Amino acid sequence: MATEKVTGGCLCGEVRFETDAEPIAALLCHCTDCQRVSGSAYYAAYITPLAKLTVLKGDPAGYTVKSDRGRDNTRRFCRTCGSRVWAEIDRGQGIASINGMAFDDASHFRPSANHRLETAPNWCRIDSDLAELPVD
Ligand SMILES: [Zn+2]
Ligand SMILES: [Zn+2]
Repeated sequence: MATEKVTGGCLCGEVRFETDAEPIAALLCHCTDCQRVSGSAYYAAYITPLAKLTVLKGDPAGYTVKSDRGRDNTRRFCRTCGSRVWAEIDRGQGIASINGMAFDDASHFRPSANHRLETAPNWCRIDSDLAELPVD
């Protein structure tokens, strides 16, 4: 089901994107890679098909890492301001993990689950009303 188009971008405005996808999932990911690149206890991951992510402006840089589950994860960021905008995850079909905090309307991101709580820092308050998505 398509929703209205929602737009987002980086801090400086060089990278802009939009999507009309209902998220497959909206996760707070506490994995150590997400922590390191986001500078926070978790990353707000708005998961959609990659084909549903339209780049309106800019050409973000990418840095590809193997996740601990063996997937290529290309983390995209603005060349000028360094903001994370999305990640592209190879699952054979192309998944985008959009930075939910990069939407112009941040309330569009509503987390439905926690992910990788085993690496959450011990000062992090966990919302126990959220489901915990198992490691797949
Ligand atoms: Zn930027
Ligand atoms: Zn993560």
